[in-house]
Amino acid sequence: MRNNNSSESIDFSHMHLVSPLITPSRVPSTPVPVTLSTTGEEARKREMQRQHLPELPQVTCLARARIPTTHGADIFLHIYENNVDNKEHLAIVFGEDIRSRSLFKHRPHESQQDRMTRGAYIGRLFPGRTVADEDNEGNKLEFEENGDLKIDYKTTYSTADPAIVRIHSECYTGETAWSARCDCGEQLDEAGRIMGEAGHGCIVYLRQEGRGIGLGEKLKAYNLQDLGADTVQANLMLRHPADARLFSLATAILVDLGLEDIKLLTNNPDKIAAVEGRERQVRVTERVPMVPLGWSKGGKGIKLKEIEGYLSTKIERMGHLLEKPIHT
Ligand SMILES: [Zn+2]
Repeated sequence: MRNNNSSESIDFSHMHLVSPLITPSRVPSTPVPVTLSTTGEEARKREMQRQHLPELPQVTCLARARIPTTHGADIFLHIYENNVDNKEHLAIVFGEDIRSRSLFKHRPHESQQDRMTRGAYIGRLFPGRTVADEDNEGNKLEFEENGDLKIDYKTTYSTADPAIVRIHSECYTGETAWSARCDCGEQLDEAGRIMGEAGHGCIVYLRQEGRGIGLGEKLKAYNLQDLGADTVQANLMLRHPADARLFSLATAILVDLGLEDIKLLTNNPDKIAAVEGRERQVRVTERVPMVPLGWSKGGKGIKLKEIEGYLSTKIERMGHLLEKPIHT
């Protein structure tokens, strides 16, 4: 069997960069050569260089709604607009008391029903409820003169015990089409399970399919992978960076949610530096590792050679902080 895990053993001399006619690059940044392993300050510098946004994007939460889930825990889904792209990025929030500043801000001339319709209410909605800013147990939201929500720890989540945060990038194939080429679906499920148990948490769900290159380009990369390239090589052959994602939208969304001190659920050292932002607007106080279910003891996760190769590439080529399991 071909060893998917070791790029050195495969001869790529017969494979070329894909013609620009096939892959017109829409990604603004130029491809950055991927080093084998970077951590800490080096990773931060590299990530800052790649991100060309001089300041955090402006994000506004348009609406929030409670979603009962099949796991048992309710989530509050927040939908955002921003001034950088025209995609609707999301925050999947565990905990009723994690409040978006932009959503809860009082807007001129809006009624209490308007606020409930946008999702800017405390507690739970029920038929006949008329007031958004006070629940039926007497908990009341307070506002500054300019309409900003006052941060009151009785009604708003305190970051004394930082919430667990996961930054997740949209993956149509892994989440919807049952793909075993990656572990995105499994990771999303696992993040939800962990946060549901903790009672507080937030999955920032960014619409940057295929590490930011889009679904069409991702499918071409899959064909190159079937021709022998690994995930990093495939992107480079398509003239895309190994990873074209921008995480400053996630930073801005976390700041909006008041989640400035967080525990980050990730194995990716670049993500810690990227999510904290240029001015460290968000601080990662702890990294919580994400262990693939297939690797954990008695794990029930998917075990296919495709996913083993994908995870090995993450570790060997992108400096992810995971120990490979010892197979018996
Ligand atoms: Zn995926």
